[in-house]
Amino acid sequence: MDIQKVDFFRHNIEEQDIERCNEVLRSVFLATGKVVEQLEDQLSAYLNLPHAIAVTSCTEALQLCLMGLGIGPGDEVITTPMTFCATSNVILHVGATPVFVDVRPEDGNMDPALIEAKITERTKAIIPIHLYGRMADMRAISTIAQKHGLKLIEDAAHCLEGERDGVKPGQLGDAACFSFYATKNITSGEGGAIATKDEALAERLKPLRLHGIDKTAADRYTKSYQHWDMRVLGLKANMSNIQAALLVGQLERIESLWNRRESLAKRYEQALAGLPGVVLKEVGAQERSGRHLMTIQVAPAKRDACLKRLQELGVGVAVNFRAVHLLEYYRSKFGFHEGDFPVAESIGGGTISLPLYPLLSEAELDYVVAQVKQVAQELL
Ligand SMILES: *Cc1c(COP(=O)(O)O)cnc(C)c1O
Repeated sequence: MDIQKVDFFRHNIEEQDIERCNEVLRSVFLATGKVVEQLEDQLSAYLNLPHAIAVTSCTEALQLCLMGLGIGPGDEVITTPMTFCATSNVILHVGATPVFVDVRPEDGNMDPALIEAKITERTKAIIPIHLYGRMADMRAISTIAQKHGLKLIEDAAHCLEGERDGVKPGQLGDAACFSFYATKNITSGEGGAIATKDEALAERLKPLRLHGIDKTAADRYTKSYQHWDMRVLGLKANMSNIQAALLVGQLERIESLWNRRESLAKRYEQALAGLPGVVLKEVGAQERSGRHLMTIQVAPAKRDACLKRLQELGVGVAVNFRAVHLLEYYRSKFGFHEGDFPVAESIGGGTISLPLYPLLSEAELDYVVAQVKQVAQELL
């Protein structure tokens, strides 16, 4: 087979998932109902957490957690700039102020040693993100959160399958938020979830995802009609049965999907080890990476030229992520500039994401490796 082009991403939706979705479409009830409940039960079992709440995106999941934990105007929330802008945008959406701390060079995750210097009397919460599937040091971060009485919300959009130092997402934090966006490890096109061990928080989040209404549509229409009330101001962020139907089967297959990505990532790591000009970050012995993204680091001055050349050679690429504080909105609103968070800037300036998904064949992966070597020889 003569490979000339490798897509950056292909999803894992199979005929059985489409069939499950068709069953919902042939039924009466399309919105939040039994299939959503089934997905929530499955998620909480997989994560070993008592409560899971399915929503329309990880962005809404994060915002709902801030709302459910009472964070709002005047408050400060600590996070990192090495993430997708959703993480810090939600802090602004609730009227609070994002306070960035830099990340560690070895994994791009929040550096626990830098947190305490940023804590003020207005600080209410910390949002670490588990970059590319590798968990932040939750043991160190949760110790700091407890010491200062801060809430801890995990952006686990990359890390449904991850573990570190014996803990999974959501086990040390107040809540963990997941994404089922089109390019995530399992997907319904758009979608997200919150998992938490905190029952009181879960009970506050359920109405908050549906305007603050105290009954779901299923409660209102499948039984005899009941009046509902609205006691708090919520969002409209409830997942539909259609989305949940696409996810149930993928979640059943999640470990085999992970195994496939793990073996592909290891093949990349072996093939690219020691390549001059290209840096790979090794997963630590105490970690299980969710293996969401396969990234390489090149010199920031050469990155964009490498991206362009890889695309010319038929390799789908992405950048995850240019540091948030250097995006135009954040620069102009907060006066951030180059040099504020040097580690995040060097990762954001030099990172390239390569194709990594279960349907990627070994032959395609080898093609990508050959092109990376070609580009390294030409440009690095
Ligand atoms: C994708 C992503 C999000 C947002 O997820 P949505 O479901 O699209 O809202 C948040 N944080 C990180 C780190 C992401 O990669």
